[in-house]
Amino acid sequence: MSTEHRIRSGRVHLVEIPVTETHSHGSGDVDVVKTVILELTTESGLTGWGEASPWPVFTGTPEATIGALTNYFLPMVVGRDPSQVEVLLAEADKAVVHCPEAKAALETALLDITGRALGVPIHDLLGGCHRDQVPLSFSIANPDFDEDFGKAERLVADGVGIFKLKTGFRDHAFDIMRVEKLRAAFDDTVDLRIDYNQGMTAHDALPRLRDFENFRLTFIEQPVPRDNLEAMAHFTQALTTPVMADESVFNPREALVGAERRIADIFSLKIMKSGGMRRALEVAAIARAAGIGVYGGCMFETGIAHAAGAQLMAALPALDLGCEFYMSSYYLREDILAEPFPVQAGQVHIPKAPGLGVEVDRDRLAKYTVESVPAG
Ligand code: MG
Repeated sequence: MSTEHRIRSGRVHLVEIPVTETHSHGSGDVDVVKTVILELTTESGLTGWGEASPWPVFTGTPEATIGALTNYFLPMVVGRDPSQVEVLLAEADKAVVHCPEAKAALETALLDITGRALGVPIHDLLGGCHRDQVPLSFSIANPDFDEDFGKAERLVADGVGIFKLKTGFRDHAFDIMRVEKLRAAFDDTVDLRIDYNQGMTAHDALPRLRDFENFRLTFIEQPVPRDNLEAMAHFTQALTTPVMADESVFNPREALVGAERRIADIFSLKIMKSGGMRRALEVAAIARAAGIGVYGGCMFETGIAHAAGAQLMAALPALDLGCEFYMSSYYLREDILAEPFPVQAGQVHIPKAPGLGVEVDRDRLAKYTVESVPAG
């Protein structure tokens, strides 16, 4: 692009937003969303937004993310053409190992600027729009199941048809009881899944997983720790219910190994694992070549990262199992987007305006910012 759109400066905001209820997982509880917002400004006055949402038990820490962005990536991109996305990402990969969330934020802000400058949405920069909407999955993760059950009833009335239960944070009987109650209440009008977030030990997992075989679950997600590929492959082979890999597959290399060893029937795609939308498309290409399905996952994030994820979902040639961009609509006390993230009748509607397709409310961003670091 022309030199007027070169990057002039950047700013990194550490944001903390209270949530509507505790979310429990096989790998720990979440009571507040801590996320990192990246703001890039061009010489021409355009602003591009990106988000890194690190979770220390899953992807990384906010401290490492902020360090990667302020000390390495921002000095690298100032003065550069934001449309050179792959060139800049390759430099980021060489400069800092890991930190995929920081790379996702960088890529999102670069693509946001490029899309705004060219007047096209990000999915057009990724190859085009395969779908206008994606079915939304809501996660049942409240330790108080009565509260969750009431919420599920309200969400079904709203048109939400997919529920993913977080399992493995209490006992097996609690997990079975919740699936049983939801299946009995909604019969086959809802699509049910479960996600252990690595919460099982391999030696006693299989009999417990077999207890779910009669509930017509769409998938069982990441029962055991990410490195136990042998157990993941064994469950995939032994169970009728499809198995999904989340923590076991971050990036294209892990997708290749996962496909070769058949550790799952489905991979969960997340920009915070792959290091952005382009790398997630690479994971999806490997999955597709191997006959493995894909699903649109998210982390604990605001509507900015949701919008990036939705742009990726639009650009995927195949998307089998919906997406889970429900945080902004149902979990955060308040989002930092100017308009609500577009969820209607249980569907995420792909934003079509230039760039990310969403705007940030600067007053609310300031309200929830606990630390702001200028750079460049
Ligand atoms: Mg998961």
